[in-house]
Amino acid sequence: MAPPPRSLHGTVVAITGGARGIGRATAAALARQGARVAIGDLDGPLAEREAAALGGGAVGLPLDVTDRGSFEHFLDEVEGTLGPLDVLVNNAGIMHMERFAEEDDAAAIRQVDVNLHGVITGSKLAVRRFVPRGRGHLVNVASSAGKFGIAGIVTYSATKHGVVGLTEALRTELRGTGVELSVVMPGIVDTELVDGVSDTRGLKRVQPEEVAAAIVEALGTGRFDVYVPKSLGSLWKGMALLPRRVNEGIGRALKSDRVMLDFDRSRREGYELRAQRSDPSLGAPDAQPALPEKAETRSA
Ligand code: NAD
Repeated sequence: MAPPPRSLHGTVVAITGGARGIGRATAAALARQGARVAIGDLDGPLAEREAAALGGGAVGLPLDVTDRGSFEHFLDEVEGTLGPLDVLVNNAGIMHMERFAEEDDAAAIRQVDVNLHGVITGSKLAVRRFVPRGRGHLVNVASSAGKFGIAGIVTYSATKHGVVGLTEALRTELRGTGVELSVVMPGIVDTELVDGVSDTRGLKRVQPEEVAAAIVEALGTGRFDVYVPKSLGSLWKGMALLPRRVNEGIGRALKSDRVMLDFDRSRREGYELRAQRSDPSLGAPDAQPALPEKAETRSA
């Protein structure tokens, strides 16, 4: 019989991109378990407000995961306020939807910077703290797009495959150190990141709270592969056994190959503009007014 899950009471957890969506739901779920939670977000004021709403001594801090100094300062502040870090959830991420040939280079660079390089930086900074202590749990939020390549979000899929590969390789390297890792691979989650995306027969939309519950479970049990919903894990294993042409044919039959191509552009404008403002070269989001010329080229 599996041992009972470990208690998370008093555990110090830092969550990147924790002011909205999956990060915010995860912060709330962990706070309910008695964890001491810090949320970092590019939107610092929103992070502060969300932390205050959580109560229980949760802290909200500004963080840009693409800026090493900002990330290091965030983790120092968390440890100074809440104590030694037990868990880092690398959750911050952005998604730009566009056919690959039409995607502008800035959008591709931005996704790599936030989704992959941000996770590399966060993982490195956390591991440097965890290994000397012989404990700690690193949770990297990838996506099912880290296992399945998805039309319409080609660069995003590449960044998420990178996060899965990074976490798998790091698990091998850290074996025996006492540090644990998990990689989270949700399907479509009901957050602003998928504004304008329709439901499809093959892919049931889940709520951010379901991803949060899966992360809580992984921290309690030490589970490495975290698919949300769990059925995605069986689907992945089954599909991997099939010849590629059969595998792709099933995707077409379920229309999962169209889901990120046939979206409603007008309903994504707000999200795309916010994601665009997270451009590392543009500085703090509050300092940015309208970005009109980029908005014209990237949003339909
Ligand atoms: P979201 O847009 O609701 O929240 C993301 C948060 O990250 C925002 O608060 C944003 O301000 C913050 N952020 C963006 N850039 C940042 C930066 N440079 N530094 C710090 N914070 C930054 O999105 P979400 O759906 O909650 O996504 C969270 C994670 O889950 C992402 O990594 C995403 O790729 C992944 N994911 C989402 C889905 C989905 O369908 N929503 C599916 C699979 C995986």
